[in-house]
Amino acid sequence: MKKSEKKFLPLFHQSEGKKALVVGGGAVAFRRCRILLDAGFVLTVVALAFDPVLKAMLEKHNAAIKQKAYEPDDIDNQYLVVAATDDVAVNQAIANVCKKRNIPVNVADNAHACDFVFSSVVERGPLKIAVSAGGKSPVLARLLKHLINGLVPSGYGELAGLVGEYRQKVRRAIPDEKQRIAFWESVLQGAVAEAVFSGKKAEAQSLLEKAVENPEKTIGAGEVYLIGAGPGDPGLLTLRAFRLIQQADVVLYDRLVSDEVMSLIRPDAEKIYVGKRRANHAVPQDDINRLLVQHAKQGKRVARLKGGDPFVFGRGGEEIEELSSESIPFQVIPGITAANGCAAYAGIPLTHRDHAQSVRFVTGQLKDGTVDLDWKTLVQPGQTLVFYMGLKGLPIIARELVLHGADKKLPIALIEKGTTMDQQVHIATLETIVDVLENASVKSPSLLIVGSVVSLHGKLQWFDKGRGH
Ligand code: SAH
Repeated sequence: MKKSEKKFLPLFHQSEGKKALVVGGGAVAFRRCRILLDAGFVLTVVALAFDPVLKAMLEKHNAAIKQKAYEPDDIDNQYLVVAATDDVAVNQAIANVCKKRNIPVNVADNAHACDFVFSSVVERGPLKIAVSAGGKSPVLARLLKHLINGLVPSGYGELAGLVGEYRQKVRRAIPDEKQRIAFWESVLQGAVAEAVFSGKKAEAQSLLEKAVENPEKTIGAGEVYLIGAGPGDPGLLTLRAFRLIQQADVVLYDRLVSDEVMSLIRPDAEKIYVGKRRANHAVPQDDINRLLVQHAKQGKRVARLKGGDPFVFGRGGEEIEELSSESIPFQVIPGITAANGCAAYAGIPLTHRDHAQSVRFVTGQLKDGTVDLDWKTLVQPGQTLVFYMGLKGLPIIARELVLHGADKKLPIALIEKGTTMDQQVHIATLETIVDVLENASVKSPSLLIVGSVVSLHGKLQWFDKGRGH
Protein backbone atom coordinates (compact mmCIF):
# COMPACT_ATOMS: atom_id res chain seq x y z
CA MET A 1 0.00 0.00 0.00
CA LYS A 2 1.26 3.43 -0.90
CA LYS A 3 1.88 5.52 2.15
CA SER A 4 0.08 8.86 2.05
CA GLU A 5 2.11 12.00 1.27
CA LYS A 6 3.34 13.83 4.31
CA LYS A 7 3.15 17.59 4.55
CA PHE A 8 5.86 19.71 6.13
CA LEU A 9 5.66 23.25 7.50
CA PRO A 10 8.99 25.07 7.65
CA LEU A 11 9.45 26.75 11.02
CA PHE A 12 12.46 28.45 12.52
CA HIS A 13 12.76 27.26 16.11
CA GLN A 14 14.48 29.22 18.80
CA SER A 15 16.97 26.48 19.63
CA GLU A 16 19.57 28.06 21.89
CA GLY A 17 19.80 26.21 25.22
CA LYS A 18 17.08 23.66 24.43
CA LYS A 19 17.69 19.96 25.09
CA ALA A 20 18.04 17.45 22.27
CA LEU A 21 18.77 13.73 22.24
CA VAL A 22 20.61 11.92 19.48
CA VAL A 23 20.72 8.13 19.55
CA GLY A 24 23.54 6.74 17.42
CA GLY A 25 27.32 7.06 17.20
CA GLY A 26 28.18 6.89 13.49
CA ALA A 27 28.41 9.18 10.46
CA VAL A 28 24.72 10.06 10.31
CA ALA A 29 24.67 10.90 14.00
CA PHE A 30 27.78 13.02 13.45
CA ARG A 31 26.07 15.16 10.78
CA ARG A 32 22.94 15.60 12.89
CA CYS A 33 24.95 16.46 16.01
CA ARG A 34 26.93 19.08 14.13
CA ILE A 35 23.77 20.85 12.98
CA LEU A 36 22.19 20.70 16.43
CA LEU A 37 25.33 21.96 18.15
CA ASP A 38 25.62 24.83 15.67
CA ALA A 39 22.04 25.76 16.50
CA GLY A 40 22.92 25.94 20.20
CA PHE A 41 21.15 22.80 21.45
CA VAL A 42 22.29 21.20 24.70
CA LEU A 43 23.01 17.72 23.44
CA THR A 44 22.82 14.24 24.94
CA VAL A 45 24.11 11.45 22.71
CA VAL A 46 23.43 7.80 23.48
CA ALA A 47 25.24 5.02 21.56
CA LEU A 48 26.76 1.60 22.07
CA ALA A 49 29.92 2.80 20.30
CA PHE A 50 31.15 6.22 19.25
CA ASP A 51 32.99 7.20 16.10
CA PRO A 52 36.15 8.94 17.42
CA VAL A 53 35.53 12.07 15.32
CA LEU A 54 32.01 12.36 16.72
CA LYS A 55 33.28 11.81 20.23
CA ALA A 56 35.91 14.51 19.86
CA MET A 57 33.33 16.99 18.59
CA LEU A 58 30.95 16.19 21.44
CA GLU A 59 33.68 16.56 24.03
CA LYS A 60 34.66 19.91 22.56
CA HIS A 61 31.10 21.15 22.97
CA ASN A 62 30.57 19.64 26.42
CA ALA A 63 27.76 17.42 25.18
CA ALA A 64 26.66 14.52 27.43
CA ILE A 65 28.15 11.30 26.05
CA LYS A 66 26.40 8.13 27.20
CA GLN A 67 27.95 4.91 25.98
CA LYS A 68 25.15 2.45 26.65
CA ALA A 69 22.03 0.91 25.12
CA TYR A 70 19.12 3.27 24.48
CA GLU A 71 16.32 3.21 27.04
CA PRO A 72 12.95 5.00 26.86
CA ASP A 73 13.89 7.11 29.90
CA ASP A 74 16.58 8.84 27.79
CA ILE A 75 13.78 10.74 26.11
CA ASP A 76 12.63 12.44 29.32
CA ASN A 77 12.63 16.24 29.11
CA GLN A 78 13.93 16.40 25.56
CA TYR A 79 12.72 19.13 23.16
CA LEU A 80 13.43 16.92 20.17
CA VAL A 81 14.94 13.53 19.40
CA VAL A 82 16.99 12.09 16.53
CA ALA A 83 17.07 8.32 16.00
CA ALA A 84 20.20 7.62 13.98
CA THR A 85 21.33 4.13 14.90
CA ASP A 86 22.01 1.52 12.22
CA ASP A 87 19.35 -0.73 13.77
CA VAL A 88 15.98 -0.16 12.10
CA ALA A 89 14.07 -1.78 14.99
CA VAL A 90 15.73 0.46 17.59
CA ASN A 91 15.02 3.53 15.48
CA GLN A 92 11.39 2.51 15.18
CA ALA A 93 11.10 1.87 18.93
CA ILE A 94 12.45 5.35 19.64
CA ALA A 95 9.98 6.85 17.16
CA ASN A 96 7.08 4.99 18.81
CA VAL A 97 7.92 6.29 22.27
CA CYS A 98 8.34 9.84 20.97
CA LYS A 99 5.02 9.71 19.20
CA LYS A 100 3.25 8.52 22.33
CA ARG A 101 4.80 11.37 24.29
CA ASN A 102 4.37 14.02 21.59
CA ILE A 103 8.06 14.72 21.24
CA PRO A 104 9.16 15.55 17.69
CA VAL A 105 11.42 12.85 16.27
CA ASN A 106 13.64 12.53 13.22
CA VAL A 107 14.46 9.03 12.06
CA ALA A 108 17.47 8.52 9.80
CA ASP A 109 16.61 7.15 6.35
CA ASN A 110 12.93 6.82 7.13
CA ALA A 111 11.13 9.95 6.03
CA HIS A 112 7.77 8.43 6.82
CA ALA A 113 8.56 8.01 10.51
CA CYS A 114 9.81 11.60 10.82
CA ASP A 115 7.97 14.40 12.57
CA PHE A 116 10.55 16.81 11.22
CA VAL A 117 13.29 16.67 8.62
CA PHE A 118 16.55 18.58 8.43
CA SER A 119 16.94 21.13 5.68
CA SER A 120 19.84 22.35 3.57
CA VAL A 121 20.53 25.87 4.73
CA VAL A 122 22.01 28.90 3.02
CA GLU A 123 23.20 31.27 5.72
CA ARG A 124 24.03 34.93 5.57
CA GLY A 125 24.48 35.99 9.17
CA PRO A 126 21.02 36.09 10.70
CA LEU A 127 19.41 35.37 7.32
CA LYS A 128 18.61 31.74 6.72
CA ILE A 129 17.14 30.13 3.63
CA ALA A 130 16.13 26.54 4.30
CA VAL A 131 15.56 24.07 1.47
CA SER A 132 13.82 20.77 1.95
CA ALA A 133 12.62 18.05 -0.39
CA GLY A 134 10.43 16.64 2.39
CA GLY A 135 12.85 13.79 2.96
CA LYS A 136 12.48 12.58 -0.63
CA SER A 137 15.84 13.66 -1.99
CA PRO A 138 18.40 15.29 0.29
CA VAL A 139 20.80 15.46 -2.68
CA LEU A 140 18.34 17.50 -4.73
CA ALA A 141 17.78 19.83 -1.78
CA ARG A 142 21.55 20.22 -1.45
CA LEU A 143 21.98 21.01 -5.15
CA LEU A 144 19.26 23.65 -4.92
CA LYS A 145 20.97 25.06 -1.88
CA HIS A 146 24.19 25.47 -3.86
CA LEU A 147 22.29 27.23 -6.63
CA ILE A 148 20.74 29.67 -4.17
CA ASN A 149 24.05 30.07 -2.43
CA GLY A 150 25.56 31.30 -5.68
CA LEU A 151 22.81 33.81 -6.24
CA VAL A 152 22.53 35.44 -2.83
CA PRO A 153 25.27 38.04 -2.38
CA SER A 154 27.58 37.23 0.49
CA GLY A 155 26.94 40.71 1.93
CA TYR A 156 23.31 39.95 2.78
CA GLY A 157 24.22 38.85 6.30
CA GLU A 158 26.09 42.05 6.95
CA LEU A 159 23.22 44.03 5.46
CA ALA A 160 20.75 42.29 7.75
CA GLY A 161 23.01 43.02 10.72
CA LEU A 162 23.34 46.68 9.78
CA VAL A 163 19.68 47.41 9.15
CA GLY A 164 18.69 45.36 12.23
CA GLU A 165 20.45 47.97 14.38
CA TYR A 166 18.22 50.68 12.93
CA ARG A 167 14.88 48.92 13.09
CA GLN A 168 13.57 50.59 16.23
CA LYS A 169 14.90 53.97 15.23
CA VAL A 170 13.16 53.76 11.86
CA ARG A 171 9.95 52.59 13.50
CA ARG A 172 9.97 55.76 15.60
CA ALA A 173 10.98 58.02 12.71
CA ILE A 174 8.39 56.64 10.25
CA PRO A 175 5.30 55.55 12.20
CA ASP A 176 3.24 54.87 9.09
CA GLU A 177 3.71 51.21 8.15
CA LYS A 178 3.31 51.61 4.40
CA GLN A 179 5.84 54.40 4.29
CA ARG A 180 8.18 52.41 6.45
CA ILE A 181 8.03 49.45 4.08
CA ALA A 182 8.74 51.76 1.14
CA PHE A 183 11.69 53.16 3.07
CA TRP A 184 13.16 49.72 3.77
CA GLU A 185 12.62 48.59 0.22
CA SER A 186 14.59 51.50 -1.11
CA VAL A 187 17.35 51.08 1.48
CA LEU A 188 17.67 47.34 0.89
CA GLN A 189 17.77 47.68 -2.88
CA GLY A 190 19.57 51.00 -3.13
CA ALA A 191 22.87 52.66 -2.41
CA VAL A 192 23.12 51.42 1.21
CA ALA A 193 22.86 47.78 0.15
CA GLU A 194 25.22 48.25 -2.76
CA ALA A 195 27.78 49.89 -0.46
CA VAL A 196 27.61 46.86 1.88
CA PHE A 197 28.00 44.46 -1.05
CA SER A 198 31.08 46.35 -2.23
CA GLY A 199 32.64 46.03 1.22
CA LYS A 200 32.25 49.73 2.10
CA LYS A 201 30.77 49.33 5.54
CA ALA A 202 31.48 52.82 6.85
CA GLU A 203 29.92 54.40 3.79
CA ALA A 204 26.87 52.17 4.11
CA GLN A 205 26.46 53.17 7.73
CA SER A 206 26.69 56.88 7.01
CA LEU A 207 24.27 56.57 4.07
CA LEU A 208 21.84 54.77 6.34
CA GLU A 209 22.21 57.43 9.07
CA LYS A 210 21.39 60.09 6.51
CA ALA A 211 18.51 58.06 5.16
CA VAL A 212 16.93 57.74 8.61
CA GLU A 213 17.28 61.49 9.16
CA ASN A 214 15.67 62.24 5.82
CA PRO A 215 13.44 59.30 4.83
CA GLU A 216 11.51 61.17 2.13
CA LYS A 217 14.66 61.79 0.20
CA THR A 218 15.75 58.16 0.50
CA ILE A 219 12.50 56.83 -0.85
CA GLY A 220 12.97 59.16 -3.80
CA ALA A 221 16.71 58.56 -4.44
CA GLY A 222 17.63 56.88 -7.70
CA GLU A 223 20.71 55.05 -8.85
CA VAL A 224 22.23 53.94 -12.15
CA TYR A 225 23.82 50.58 -12.97
CA LEU A 226 26.01 50.55 -16.05
CA ILE A 227 25.87 46.87 -16.85
CA GLY A 228 27.88 44.79 -19.28
CA ALA A 229 25.32 42.43 -20.82
CA GLY A 230 27.93 40.24 -22.50
CA PRO A 231 27.93 39.12 -26.13
CA GLY A 232 24.61 37.28 -26.16
CA ASP A 233 24.46 34.07 -24.13
CA PRO A 234 22.66 35.07 -20.89
CA GLY A 235 24.71 32.46 -19.04
CA LEU A 236 27.69 34.77 -19.43
CA LEU A 237 26.23 37.52 -17.25
CA THR A 238 27.90 38.07 -13.91
CA LEU A 239 25.85 37.29 -10.83
CA ARG A 240 25.80 40.97 -9.97
CA ALA A 241 24.56 41.93 -13.44
CA PHE A 242 21.82 39.32 -13.11
CA ARG A 243 20.70 40.68 -9.75
CA LEU A 244 20.73 44.32 -10.80
CA ILE A 245 18.90 43.66 -14.07
CA GLN A 246 16.05 42.19 -12.06
CA GLN A 247 16.09 45.04 -9.61
CA ALA A 248 15.87 47.83 -12.20
CA ASP A 249 12.73 49.95 -12.64
CA VAL A 250 13.89 51.32 -15.99
CA VAL A 251 16.22 49.73 -18.53
CA LEU A 252 17.95 51.59 -21.34
CA TYR A 253 19.31 49.15 -23.90
CA ASP A 254 20.60 48.97 -27.43
CA ARG A 255 20.82 46.63 -30.37
CA LEU A 256 23.64 44.49 -29.03
CA VAL A 257 21.79 43.27 -25.95
CA SER A 258 20.40 39.82 -26.77
CA ASP A 259 16.72 38.90 -26.48
CA GLU A 260 17.60 36.26 -23.89
CA VAL A 261 19.20 38.85 -21.65
CA MET A 262 16.25 41.22 -22.22
CA SER A 263 13.88 38.49 -21.07
CA LEU A 264 15.46 38.60 -17.60
CA ILE A 265 14.11 42.11 -17.01
CA ARG A 266 11.15 42.37 -14.63
CA PRO A 267 7.94 42.48 -16.68
CA ASP A 268 6.78 45.67 -14.98
CA ALA A 269 10.03 47.52 -15.65
CA GLU A 270 10.07 50.20 -18.34
CA LYS A 271 12.27 49.35 -21.34
CA ILE A 272 13.71 52.15 -23.45
CA TYR A 273 15.50 51.40 -26.70
CA VAL A 274 18.35 53.80 -27.37
CA GLY A 275 20.14 52.01 -30.22
CA LYS A 276 20.13 52.51 -33.94
CA ARG A 277 16.98 51.91 -35.91
CA ARG A 278 17.40 51.02 -39.56
CA ALA A 279 17.37 54.33 -41.40
CA ASN A 280 17.39 56.49 -38.29
CA HIS A 281 20.43 57.42 -36.37
CA ALA A 282 21.04 56.17 -32.87
CA VAL A 283 19.77 58.27 -30.01
CA PRO A 284 22.56 60.84 -29.66
CA GLN A 285 24.92 60.12 -26.78
CA ASP A 286 23.98 63.37 -25.02
CA ASP A 287 20.35 62.36 -25.01
CA ILE A 288 21.18 58.96 -23.51
CA ASN A 289 23.20 60.65 -20.79
CA ARG A 290 20.31 63.00 -20.11
CA LEU A 291 17.78 60.16 -19.98
CA LEU A 292 19.87 58.35 -17.38
CA VAL A 293 20.05 61.45 -15.20
CA GLN A 294 16.39 62.25 -15.64
CA HIS A 295 15.15 58.80 -14.61
CA ALA A 296 17.53 58.52 -11.68
CA LYS A 297 16.34 61.91 -10.44
CA GLN A 298 12.79 60.56 -10.42
CA GLY A 299 14.00 58.07 -7.83
CA LYS A 300 14.20 55.08 -10.14
CA ARG A 301 16.78 52.33 -10.29
CA VAL A 302 18.05 52.67 -13.80
CA ALA A 303 19.94 49.94 -15.63
CA ARG A 304 21.95 50.95 -18.65
CA LEU A 305 22.49 47.66 -20.46
CA LYS A 306 25.33 47.56 -22.95
CA GLY A 307 26.49 44.69 -25.12
CA GLY A 308 29.75 43.06 -24.03
CA ASP A 309 31.71 45.14 -21.57
CA PRO A 310 30.69 48.77 -21.04
CA PHE A 311 34.30 49.97 -21.06
CA VAL A 312 35.36 48.21 -24.27
CA PHE A 313 34.28 50.27 -27.29
CA GLY A 314 31.17 51.03 -25.32
CA ARG A 315 31.26 54.73 -24.45
CA GLY A 316 30.51 53.68 -20.89
CA GLY A 317 32.91 56.32 -19.66
CA GLU A 318 30.96 59.16 -21.25
CA GLU A 319 27.72 58.02 -19.69
CA ILE A 320 28.98 57.90 -16.16
CA GLU A 321 30.82 61.22 -16.43
CA GLU A 322 27.45 62.95 -16.57
CA LEU A 323 26.16 60.94 -13.61
CA SER A 324 29.20 61.79 -11.60
CA SER A 325 28.84 65.51 -12.23
CA GLU A 326 25.18 65.29 -11.16
CA SER A 327 26.17 63.37 -7.99
CA ILE A 328 23.94 60.44 -8.88
CA PRO A 329 25.14 57.16 -7.34
CA PHE A 330 26.18 54.62 -9.96
CA GLN A 331 28.14 51.43 -10.35
CA VAL A 332 29.78 49.74 -13.31
CA ILE A 333 29.40 46.00 -13.77
CA PRO A 334 31.88 44.48 -16.21
CA GLY A 335 30.71 42.11 -18.89
CA ILE A 336 32.31 39.48 -21.09
CA THR A 337 33.52 41.47 -24.06
CA ALA A 338 32.84 40.19 -27.59
CA ALA A 339 36.50 39.24 -28.06
CA ASN A 340 36.46 36.91 -25.06
CA GLY A 341 33.02 35.50 -25.74
CA CYS A 342 33.56 34.89 -29.46
CA ALA A 343 37.04 33.47 -28.95
CA ALA A 344 35.85 30.99 -26.33
CA TYR A 345 32.75 29.91 -28.25
CA ALA A 346 34.71 29.56 -31.49
CA GLY A 347 37.49 27.53 -29.87
CA ILE A 348 40.16 30.13 -30.65
CA PRO A 349 42.44 30.91 -27.68
CA LEU A 350 43.48 34.55 -27.93
CA THR A 351 46.94 33.72 -26.63
CA HIS A 352 48.80 30.44 -26.81
CA ARG A 353 52.38 29.60 -25.95
CA ASP A 354 53.08 28.33 -29.46
CA HIS A 355 51.27 31.11 -31.30
CA ALA A 356 50.70 34.43 -29.58
CA GLN A 357 52.11 36.20 -26.57
CA SER A 358 49.95 39.28 -26.85
CA VAL A 359 46.52 40.29 -28.06
CA ARG A 360 45.14 43.60 -29.24
CA PHE A 361 41.53 44.77 -29.36
CA VAL A 362 41.17 47.17 -32.28
CA THR A 363 38.27 49.11 -33.74
CA GLY A 364 37.77 48.58 -37.46
CA GLN A 365 35.34 51.46 -37.71
CA LEU A 366 35.79 53.40 -40.93
CA LYS A 367 36.74 56.99 -40.56
CA ASP A 368 36.17 59.13 -43.66
CA GLY A 369 35.90 56.06 -45.84
CA THR A 370 39.16 54.53 -44.70
CA VAL A 371 40.43 52.59 -41.72
CA ASP A 372 42.75 54.84 -39.86
CA LEU A 373 45.13 52.58 -37.97
CA ASP A 374 48.77 52.27 -37.11
CA TRP A 375 49.27 49.20 -39.29
CA LYS A 376 52.94 48.79 -38.47
CA THR A 377 52.31 48.12 -34.79
CA LEU A 378 49.49 45.75 -35.69
CA VAL A 379 51.70 43.54 -37.83
CA GLN A 380 53.90 42.01 -35.15
CA PRO A 381 54.99 38.43 -34.67
CA GLY A 382 53.19 36.53 -31.93
CA GLN A 383 50.30 38.96 -31.73
CA THR A 384 46.60 38.19 -32.11
CA LEU A 385 44.40 40.96 -33.47
CA VAL A 386 40.73 41.27 -32.68
CA PHE A 387 38.76 43.75 -34.76
CA TYR A 388 35.47 45.05 -33.45
CA MET A 389 33.15 46.71 -35.97
CA GLY A 390 35.40 45.41 -38.71
CA LEU A 391 33.03 43.96 -41.33
CA LYS A 392 32.68 47.03 -43.51
CA GLY A 393 36.37 47.72 -43.45
CA LEU A 394 37.39 44.09 -43.91
CA PRO A 395 38.76 44.46 -47.48
CA ILE A 396 40.89 47.39 -46.33
CA ILE A 397 41.99 45.62 -43.15
CA ALA A 398 43.07 42.44 -45.00
CA ARG A 399 44.85 44.44 -47.69
CA GLU A 400 46.68 46.82 -45.34
CA LEU A 401 47.87 44.03 -43.04
CA VAL A 402 49.47 42.24 -46.01
CA LEU A 403 50.90 45.49 -47.36
CA HIS A 404 52.55 46.07 -43.98
CA GLY A 405 54.22 42.68 -43.90
CA ALA A 406 51.66 40.15 -42.69
CA ASP A 407 51.76 36.73 -44.33
CA LYS A 408 48.89 36.53 -46.80
CA LYS A 409 48.31 32.95 -45.59
CA LEU A 410 47.72 34.19 -42.03
CA PRO A 411 44.40 32.72 -40.85
CA ILE A 412 41.47 34.96 -40.05
CA ALA A 413 38.12 34.13 -38.48
CA LEU A 414 34.90 36.03 -38.79
CA ILE A 415 32.46 35.15 -36.03
CA GLU A 416 28.89 36.32 -36.44
CA LYS A 417 26.45 36.51 -33.54
CA GLY A 418 29.05 34.98 -31.27
CA THR A 419 27.91 32.94 -28.23
CA THR A 420 24.30 32.88 -29.46
CA MET A 421 22.43 29.93 -30.93
CA ASP A 422 22.91 31.60 -34.34
CA GLN A 423 26.69 31.76 -34.08
CA GLN A 424 28.53 31.15 -37.36
CA VAL A 425 32.28 30.93 -37.76
CA HIS A 426 33.95 31.57 -41.12
CA ILE A 427 37.62 30.68 -41.46
CA ALA A 428 39.88 31.90 -44.26
CA THR A 429 43.23 33.63 -44.78
CA LEU A 430 43.98 37.31 -45.27
CA GLU A 431 44.23 36.53 -48.98
CA THR A 432 40.94 34.64 -49.30
CA ILE A 433 38.62 36.11 -46.70
CA VAL A 434 36.95 38.65 -48.98
CA ASP A 435 36.14 35.99 -51.59
CA VAL A 436 35.03 33.48 -48.96
CA LEU A 437 32.50 35.96 -47.61
CA GLU A 438 31.36 37.22 -50.98
CA ASN A 439 28.27 35.04 -51.13
CA ALA A 440 27.72 34.72 -47.40
CA SER A 441 25.14 37.05 -45.90
CA VAL A 442 26.96 37.88 -42.69
CA LYS A 443 24.65 38.85 -39.88
CA SER A 444 25.49 41.59 -37.44
CA PRO A 445 27.21 41.76 -35.01
CA SER A 446 30.41 40.16 -36.17
CA LEU A 447 33.99 40.08 -35.01
CA LEU A 448 37.33 39.40 -36.71
CA ILE A 449 40.18 37.47 -35.17
CA VAL A 450 43.49 37.51 -37.03
CA GLY A 451 46.53 35.44 -36.16
CA SER A 452 47.94 31.95 -36.15
CA VAL A 453 45.79 31.07 -33.09
CA VAL A 454 42.89 30.86 -35.55
CA SER A 455 44.40 27.63 -36.86
CA LEU A 456 43.43 25.97 -33.54
CA HIS A 457 39.73 26.39 -34.27
CA GLY A 458 39.54 23.11 -36.22
CA LYS A 459 40.70 21.17 -33.19
CA LEU A 460 39.18 23.17 -30.36
CA GLN A 461 35.75 24.14 -31.62
CA TRP A 462 33.07 22.81 -29.34
CA PHE A 463 30.08 25.10 -29.36
CA ASP A 464 28.77 24.40 -32.87
CA LYS A 465 29.01 20.68 -32.41
CA GLY A 466 25.71 18.89 -31.91
CA ARG A 467 23.60 21.94 -32.59
CA GLY A 468 22.73 20.88 -36.12
CA HIS A 469 25.00 23.41 -37.79
N1 SAH B 1 31.15 46.85 -25.67
C1 SAH B 1 31.07 45.80 -26.66
C2 SAH B 1 31.56 46.22 -28.01
C3 SAH B 1 30.73 47.28 -28.67
S1 SAH B 1 31.27 47.66 -30.27
C4 SAH B 1 31.88 44.60 -26.15
O1 SAH B 1 32.62 44.71 -25.16
O2 SAH B 1 31.76 43.53 -26.75
C5 SAH B 1 30.24 46.65 -31.26
C6 SAH B 1 31.01 45.54 -31.92
O3 SAH B 1 31.23 44.51 -30.98
C7 SAH B 1 30.30 44.88 -33.04
O4 SAH B 1 30.44 45.62 -34.24
C8 SAH B 1 31.02 43.56 -33.13
O5 SAH B 1 32.26 43.71 -33.78
C9 SAH B 1 31.31 43.28 -31.67
N2 SAH B 1 30.33 42.34 -31.09
C10 SAH B 1 29.53 42.54 -30.04
N3 SAH B 1 28.81 41.46 -29.75
C11 SAH B 1 29.17 40.51 -30.64
C12 SAH B 1 28.78 39.16 -30.87
N4 SAH B 1 27.87 38.57 -30.12
N5 SAH B 1 29.36 38.50 -31.88
C13 SAH B 1 30.29 39.08 -32.67
N6 SAH B 1 30.68 40.35 -32.49
C14 SAH B 1 30.14 41.07 -31.50
